[in-house]
Amino acid sequence: MVKADAPRFTIMAANEAYLTITNATREMIIGKSFFQVFPDDDDDPTDETGARKTFNRVVQTSQKIDIPTYRYDTRDPETGDYRIRYWSCSNVPFTGADGNVTYILNTIAEITGEVNAKEAAIESENRLRLAAEATGFATFDWDFKDEIRLCSPQLAELFGHPADSWLSSIDAFQKQVLPEDQQIITDAFNEAKETGIYAYDVRVVWPDSSIHWLSIKGKMVIDERQKPLRMLGTVIDVTEIKRDEIRKNDFIAMASHELKTPLTSIKSYIQILSKKLTSDNDAFINNALSKANNQVNKMTDLIHGFLDLSKLESGKLQLRPELFDINKLIDDCISELLLSTHSHTIIFYNSGVLNVTGDKEKLGQVIGNFLSNAIKYSAKETKIIVKCSVEDGYVVVAVTDEGVGIKLKDHKKVFYRFYRVDNEKIKNVSGFGIGLYLSTEIIQCHKGKIWVESAEGVGSTFYFSIPL
Ligand code: ADP
Repeated sequence: MVKADAPRFTIMAANEAYLTITNATREMIIGKSFFQVFPDDDDDPTDETGARKTFNRVVQTSQKIDIPTYRYDTRDPETGDYRIRYWSCSNVPFTGADGNVTYILNTIAEITGEVNAKEAAIESENRLRLAAEATGFATFDWDFKDEIRLCSPQLAELFGHPADSWLSSIDAFQKQVLPEDQQIITDAFNEAKETGIYAYDVRVVWPDSSIHWLSIKGKMVIDERQKPLRMLGTVIDVTEIKRDEIRKNDFIAMASHELKTPLTSIKSYIQILSKKLTSDNDAFINNALSKANNQVNKMTDLIHGFLDLSKLESGKLQLRPELFDINKLIDDCISELLLSTHSHTIIFYNSGVLNVTGDKEKLGQVIGNFLSNAIKYSAKETKIIVKCSVEDGYVVVAVTDEGVGIKLKDHKKVFYRFYRVDNEKIKNVSGFGIGLYLSTEIIQCHKGKIWVESAEGVGSTFYFSIPL
């Protein structure tokens, strides 16, 4: 409590909390002028929050004056160092019988923690904004519950509008997405309801009718009824990257196509030569021709892999479903492999006829890829075990090897496009890292799953499952 005896403003009383915050004792402050114990920087004409000006205004106006944030640095009695502190103050006038202000009740609350936290948040927001501006990222934060929709100015620009101009509703954003890409958003959101994370690329049409690719990544918070409460994330224009991909894809398709023709004729010549030489007992020539044939087959497989990859990337990979016996297919794949490889023992636990509906040729490709990888990534003379079982309405095919195995950190990555594990033991094994990527796409087209269980140095089991 301060007596309104301006300009002295004598401190009349103070409670314990006040003394704690101000680092003072009663003896130090009671009966003294407020500004004697709490010197005020009254010289600054721009500062209207100073205590002297505030007290004078309370006296003049008889009105309560709050100062929400007031910086008042205090000296540490032990170290003598000044500490930056923030207080929130309130000054309530008490008037006497004559209507004049006789006392001012000055209350303070320490808010240094809050102010520091707010400053840190602003600084981190500024840093993020600068990073976003520099990299072309736009950020958004939509709170559906409180109807708060925040986004950086770049977001509007990425949709072809002037910065800061628009985008307060999610519908406005979705309306610009091409109709054929709408399903991508639905799928991504459905997945986000389970994982909390969404990441998808879509094409949007700008007001000038040009088409742009946007890559959107973020987090979704849902309530117990799976209703989105909040969505936040980043958006970036990836049109150039997509164009590059299309160009690369076209190149792969063209190059593979061109390579196929000479290869087919080399294969025919080898076959003709083999036939002509069947009566010949020259073991060396026979062996050389068989090796040449194997190499041509390997190259044909690689080229087909690239052709499939380019078809897949341009959305032209189509399934031709039919009903077939999957155990017979596995048997055929193994027999075909055994024509050219005798280095491993392949054991297949065939459980009899098991009919499934799917693209027989493409599923054969997946099985062939599992088997050839098992051979490629394990030592000669080791065993490869193939099993096919039915579990919960799904057919599960498993190929187990005793090879180099895969570290846990690579279990997901081996299914990515062009991913090859960095391992000294297999650095001389040839490959492009597309087999498992293609297999994943084929299995996903069958609404199935593909995964691996493996430990480095022990071996791996590659699985896929498709609905019966
Ligand atoms: P490629 O074998 O042509 O490199 P894949 O897509 O078939 O391409 O396989 C991707 C990567 O996964 C391989 O490079 C290899 O590092 C790893 N991999 C696949 N199968 C096995 C396996 N059975 N054992 C160990 N590593 C494997």
